[in-house]
Amino acid sequence: MVPPTPGPSTPAEHLTGDELAARGAEVLRMIADYWEGLRGEQGPPVLAQCAPGTTLQGLAPRPPEQGEPWAKVMADTARVIMPNLTHWQSPSFFAYFPANTSGPSVLGDLLSSGLGVQGMLWATSPAATELETRMLDWMAEALALPDAFRSTSATGGGVIEGTASEATLVALCAARKRAGGSRGGELVVYASTQAHSSVLKAAMIAGLIDDATVREGAASGAGVVRLVPVDEHQRMDVGELERAMAADRAAGRRPCLVVATMGTTGTGAMDDLLAIGAVAAAHGAWLHVDGAFAGAALICPELRGRLHAEGLERADSFAFNPHKWLLTGFDANLMYTRDRKTLTGALSVTPEYLRNAASEAGGVVDYRDWQIPLGRRFRALKLWFVVRHYGLEGLRGHIREHVRLGELAEQLLRSDSRFELPATKSPALVCFALRDSETARGNARTRGLMDRLNGGGRLYLTHAALPSGRVVLRLAIGGTFTREEHVRAAVQEIAAAAGAG
Ligand SMILES: *Cc1c(COP(=O)(O)O)cnc(C)c1O
Repeated sequence: MVPPTPGPSTPAEHLTGDELAARGAEVLRMIADYWEGLRGEQGPPVLAQCAPGTTLQGLAPRPPEQGEPWAKVMADTARVIMPNLTHWQSPSFFAYFPANTSGPSVLGDLLSSGLGVQGMLWATSPAATELETRMLDWMAEALALPDAFRSTSATGGGVIEGTASEATLVALCAARKRAGGSRGGELVVYASTQAHSSVLKAAMIAGLIDDATVREGAASGAGVVRLVPVDEHQRMDVGELERAMAADRAAGRRPCLVVATMGTTGTGAMDDLLAIGAVAAAHGAWLHVDGAFAGAALICPELRGRLHAEGLERADSFAFNPHKWLLTGFDANLMYTRDRKTLTGALSVTPEYLRNAASEAGGVVDYRDWQIPLGRRFRALKLWFVVRHYGLEGLRGHIREHVRLGELAEQLLRSDSRFELPATKSPALVCFALRDSETARGNARTRGLMDRLNGGGRLYLTHAALPSGRVVLRLAIGGTFTREEHVRAAVQEIAAAAGAG
């Protein structure tokens, strides 16, 4: 192919300030109208009902040579993008866990985009770095986390990362460092069978295992992941953990990391952090607590007992996602550790071009050393906007209302004899199934119910499997706009669809 002859060089044409402001207002109006539409009587189907490829068909196959008019871009957004969305901000979104956002979060994120600050070093972004430090300390206070997690403590601190999965990988890197690195006996990671898949993924990325096939005692790389069985409440069986760790040490392996879950993804089970922490400490392993969804509930003093909050005193690291249940848009994960030296030691590499006076002099935080990528967005801004707009009381009210709605949904479902609730109760996550004496048939009917509901478009929910193999449907209540009327309507919809099966 002959390369095209370069034309005359003309600089790119940018928006004027007035154009940016006018178009920005248009986009914000679009978001406001979108949210209003989701909350209205005639909201769109929550789960997108389009066939694969629909969006692709609506998009130009080639990029434009010349810039296009703004009005055309907006028209295509309305025509091609909006109709093919699954509506995560719908008040009837009950699937997975929510990824909820809010007005202040959107505005903070917009400002962050406009400032375009890249916060890899203190020197590249003093305000971004120090606001982040203060937000982490604010949230440590709001969630009453151990003092050892604060930036003001002798050895601890935190970081805002993108996701809980990143936090798990960072914890594994820190744990491996503490365990003396990859040389020596095989490293072992422990989590319950109900732990999030990011534990296996972290072990794959870190090179401990080659793939997600975890067989008892069969290491496929430089290490092993042991998925510890759970008890009848879907919590890690601490006796089994203890036996596995002792057996591994006796066999010359090195217990490295234990991941305990505060609110499992499937059913919201709460691992016994205190007991697990004692076992992990006895065998010299790092304890990471994954509180991705439920961790936000620590902000309510009355819920701390259910979350086993006292066990955080034994945790080496803890992470939760304000982007799941604290009105802060994706992505925002807060990760804390009581051992910042080990954590940053596991992730710090300094090429010449990053050397600078502030870092060399010490006394500043370079958040690049706390995370996987080098570059980072100014995520603290949206959290700052959110906390200042709602106040801690507003955030507590948000969580409390959803916990109340979870209890209401549970009551309503229990009063219908066609349903049973076989999983252990958890705040704001209700698991239910169609009653059936035979598991395989019950599972098929429960899945059929889910498909009818999601196809109907009035709500969206997903499923999980209990250790027994029993399939349950999950009603995860945490949407920004979810109110009692939406939960009541959802249960009515479920009851009607159960009758139609
Ligand atoms: C959602 C979830 C994760 C993964 O969250 P990301 O932030 O998307 O990586 C990890 N652990 C638990 C318990 C979760 O519920």
